[in-house]
Order: sequence, then C-alpha cells, then structure tokens
Amino acid sequence: MSRLNLRRPLRRPAPGFPCRVCRQECTLEQESIQCDGCECWLHQQCINMSTTQYVHISQPHLQFYCKQCVSMGERYNFLAALSRIAHCAPNVQSMRSQAESEFNLLRFYSVCLPDVQKVTDRQVSIHAPSTDMLHDFCPWMLEQFVPAQVVGDGNCLFRSISLSLYGTEDVHDHLRLLASIEVLLNPGVYDRTGDAYYQPYKEDDGVWVSDYDTL
Ligand SMILES: [Zn+2]
Ligand SMILES: [Zn+2]
Repeated sequence: MSRLNLRRPLRRPAPGFPCRVCRQECTLEQESIQCDGCECWLHQQCINMSTTQYVHISQPHLQFYCKQCVSMGERYNFLAALSRIAHCAPNVQSMRSQAESEFNLLRFYSVCLPDVQKVTDRQVSIHAPSTDMLHDFCPWMLEQFVPAQVVGDGNCLFRSISLSLYGTEDVHDHLRLLASIEVLLNPGVYDRTGDAYYQPYKEDDGVWVSDYDTL
C-alpha cells in the first residue's frame, strides 16, 4: 500500500492513476491510497476514509486492500485474509504486521460478528456415534448436551464454536481470522518464548508458598 504523493514513485506518467470509485485522476495533491491487491488507486474521500485512518493505514509496514479485493461476492473473504497472514510464515514479525493490516481492514470495512443467539436442538445434526458412546460411558452429559456434527475440514474447532454461538457453521472463517489476529498481536499473552510472556509473573510479588500456612 502506498500514498501516491509520498512513497511510490510515479511509474506510469500516462494515462495516469484514475480512482477506482469516481474514475477521476488521483493527483499528487490529493490524498490517495493504493490497493495492494489490484494496485488500483482510490481517493481517501471516495472511500470515506478518515484522515486518522488514512495516516494510520499508510504506515509502511501495513497493507491496504480495496473493497473488491477483500470481498468474495457479497461476503468478506476471510480465507484470503488468513492466506495473506500464512503467506508471511515463518517470519513472525511479518505475520504480525499482516495481522495488524487485517485487523485494520476489518475495522475499516466494519466487518462484525453476528449477534449471538440461543441455539436449539433443531439447528444441529446430532452425531449418532457420539450419542451412543456417551449413552454407554457418560449418560449424564446427554441430559445437558447434544453431540452435534460439524464438517471435518480442518476447521472443526471454529465450526463448533460458530455452531454453538450462532446456530450455523458459516462464521468459522471469521472466528479463525479473529483468533489468528488475537494471538499474533498479543505475544505477551500467547507466546511463551518471548520475554513479555513472563513479565506479569516477575512483577507479581504475590504470596510465597510458606505464607499459605498463615493465611
Ligand atoms: Zn475518487
Ligand atoms: Zn484492489
């Protein structure tokens, strides 16, 4: 992603850099941003990007994608976002930068999770082998839970969460992307090979084991 008047040399003097939205020229005087996918240019104003967003997203380590490039039909393309992060592996710093870009894109395009709903038995396919197993070894669970079947395509964890929260597996890719961003952008919480992971424990002057005798 580049700001036309700052970072990318003008490679094509003619026919110019038409904005993908309004088709007018993106001149050097106008704040414009380039899509890292299709390389089209967009006026900041034509995509309703605030100056604060524009300055933030224009940072050199971040990427920006136009509406067409983040969509697949009417839907946000979460799998493409996950692929962009995966493409940076094994360079963790690069993966973190990409996760930051994806987080910015979700916010910029106002991509939100649906409202959580109460899921009923009728919205799930009961998994018969699990039911039989629980009936034999753990029957009390069947009084509270229904073993549900989800597609086994490597996304079963996120499909299960999606099903239990929304009554559909369809949100699994959105949940997976959010989980990836969360883990990458918060290494102090999730990366035990980093110094930040143990910092809270070092700062905790807590209670010594021997103190428990006097508590
Ligand atoms: Zn425009
Ligand atoms: Zn694009």
